[in-house]
Amino acid sequence: MKLSFAVYTLNLLHPFTIANFTRTTTPLIITKIEYENFVGYGEASMPPYLGETQQSAILFLKKVDLQLFKTPFEIENILKYVDSIAANNTAAKASIDIALHDLVGKILNKPWHQLYGVSIDNMPETSITIGIDNISVIKQKVKEASAFNVLKVKLGSNNDKEIIEAIRETTDKPICVDVNQGWTDKHFALDMIHWLETKNTLFVEQPLSKTKLDETAWIKENSPLPIIADESVQRYADIEKIKDAFDGINIKLMKCTGMHEAYKMIHLAKELNLKLLIGCMNESSCANLAAAQLAPFAAWVDLDGPFMITNNPFKNPTLEKGKIQLEEISGIGVKLNTELNFENI
Ligand code: MG
Repeated sequence: MKLSFAVYTLNLLHPFTIANFTRTTTPLIITKIEYENFVGYGEASMPPYLGETQQSAILFLKKVDLQLFKTPFEIENILKYVDSIAANNTAAKASIDIALHDLVGKILNKPWHQLYGVSIDNMPETSITIGIDNISVIKQKVKEASAFNVLKVKLGSNNDKEIIEAIRETTDKPICVDVNQGWTDKHFALDMIHWLETKNTLFVEQPLSKTKLDETAWIKENSPLPIIADESVQRYADIEKIKDAFDGINIKLMKCTGMHEAYKMIHLAKELNLKLLIGCMNESSCANLAAAQLAPFAAWVDLDGPFMITNNPFKNPTLEKGKIQLEEISGIGVKLNTELNFENI
């Protein structure tokens, strides 16, 4: 198996603002694993607040020696080895996991949703994110999102109610609310959640700081809406720690090191009666379609990455009736349509 990588920068359609940060690009590393005549693609997306950079990902990838393994079918062993090389680096690890899954699916000539045994009829509609912005831009973004039937609204600003009212003047589509830890007081949070319930809201994600588990558990006990963990849960081992404070979890490949661990998290969450959201960072179709293979396991899907960028190096996913279409393409279903300069490890 031969590993190589290319450096790439995604340009965002709109400057992206969440509770405490604005940016216009997202750095990526695209990985490629070759074996016999097959090629698998992977992706590391590294929004700066998560602590990884293109440099740190390259340093990590240079430590990976896939020659230690005879075939790509040893997924469990290969990923255990990759995980043991260094702590953190979850996006860099995900870039190997995704490329490996793409490769194995291609060798087996099957898409992963078939290997997982899920029905594509169970694919939930994906939401599209409406970041924090001034009210006229928010209304414009809602209008531009006409192909989507669910909106994910970022709150945690000083005019949260004004944002929701503006959206409700524009559309009555259901909304998911993501506070990104932006509220500080549990009573304020619960009052907001009761108000949001009257505004056709499906759930509220990460209302308080990721460490405030007791206060979040209190909100959960009293909330009329499901409370979903995002920043509080990164990997499999975190689920047990937060399970009593939340009704569900947001699984993202870049947080949890990829499809293999995400699949295990899905099964543990189901055992614990936690609801599931499959989410993403600003990503190209590569990581996005990898996550989409797992999306039929989830109640909600937030896989809007490729629809919020202007220079996707892969073919854009097809959207029909607000759902990402899982096609009968082997592997993760991705097609590179840009010339990239891959460097060997
Ligand atoms: Mg979130």
